[in-house]
Amino acid sequence: MNGATTSGELRAHNRVRLLRAVHDCGASRTRSQLTRDLGLARGTASVLVAGLADDGLLHEEPAPEHARGRPTQIPGPHPLGPLALAADIREDAWELAACELGGRVTIIAVRPHDGTPEDALVPLGEAMAAHRAQAGYRVIGAGVALAGPVRHGGLVDIAHLGWRSVDVPSLLGVETPLIVGNDTALAALAEARRGRLRGVRVGLHLHVDFDLGGVLVVDGRPLGGASGTGAEFGHMPLTGGDRPCPCGAIGCWGMDVGANALLRHVGLAYGGGRGREQAEQVLATSQEAVTANAGALGRGVAALVNAHDPEAVTLSGHGRELLERAGDALQAACEPALMAIRRDRPPRIEGSALGWRGSLLGAMESVFDAFLTPEGLGRWRKNQPDQARDTPDRENVMHSTPKR
Ligand SMILES: [Zn+2]
Repeated sequence: MNGATTSGELRAHNRVRLLRAVHDCGASRTRSQLTRDLGLARGTASVLVAGLADDGLLHEEPAPEHARGRPTQIPGPHPLGPLALAADIREDAWELAACELGGRVTIIAVRPHDGTPEDALVPLGEAMAAHRAQAGYRVIGAGVALAGPVRHGGLVDIAHLGWRSVDVPSLLGVETPLIVGNDTALAALAEARRGRLRGVRVGLHLHVDFDLGGVLVVDGRPLGGASGTGAEFGHMPLTGGDRPCPCGAIGCWGMDVGANALLRHVGLAYGGGRGREQAEQVLATSQEAVTANAGALGRGVAALVNAHDPEAVTLSGHGRELLERAGDALQAACEPALMAIRRDRPPRIEGSALGWRGSLLGAMESVFDAFLTPEGLGRWRKNQPDQARDTPDRENVMHSTPKR
């Protein structure tokens, strides 16, 4: 049992399991369902839920409907429970969200930027600090997604924006524990937890924005590489092109798929993370550009399927739109490029269940992954002010001191 030997360790282990189960199911399962799922005795589950409620981690609500017998309770996030800050930093704008246990996301700020590290990151760090000042001990950490390879220590390169070894943690300047991740890898993580790669042993996830990123997901985990800079399938010469890529290589697949490729196809200026609206216009109106993009996407998918034999291929960002608008062109390019032994049972190719939200949700998951451990829950207990305990009702907590 993961080395849990003493009764204290066993209890800490079960607290984590129960919170993890509540989080992963989106706070949708009743206490008795969770008790069954986790193989707990009913009395043990009651004691665990009561303890987690006392610690300001869980709060139970009656299920909307119950058949007969006693009303059943659904454990969900405590109204003063932990919050993960999550940010998706794209090439032209970012959004920042506060996320509860169970995965409910509230967007708290959205801001365009000029593509420079300072204009992208400094105001985001300020927005995070402002929220932390307001929410205090509730903020357990921050996760940020960026459109480039992330090396250990949060150093980020985004070739087509001219970012080289940008020190993201120091520009953000936040005091909360910070996790910096690649947008595709985080979108893949979210897809594995809450989307169409859930329960899939070997999956391939591709995220298309201005260009394309891809990563293999094994047993729910994106393969990050030895130095954390995996998820770069977009920089493989899979489509036979010969254009120089800003990454320094020639003929990268990502040059042929995404907003930059759509803009180039119709002769518009592209690059530098500009032109999102024009690219969406092209996507909506130019079938020829869409077909060419979808074909390049399909050929690359076939190459990766030949290599990795995934059960499923999921597409987020513009990838989902390319599949919806030109799925036939995508399949027509993919199938002949598959090895004969792969053609009988090709993997399913599906749009993401999470749309454009995957990277943000993955950033959230990375924060809860660090929190949902015996150590993380121990820190929470230590940091929590006494008055937040034993009072699950937000109103009671906010007005706990009589005015007169
Ligand atoms: Zn490249």
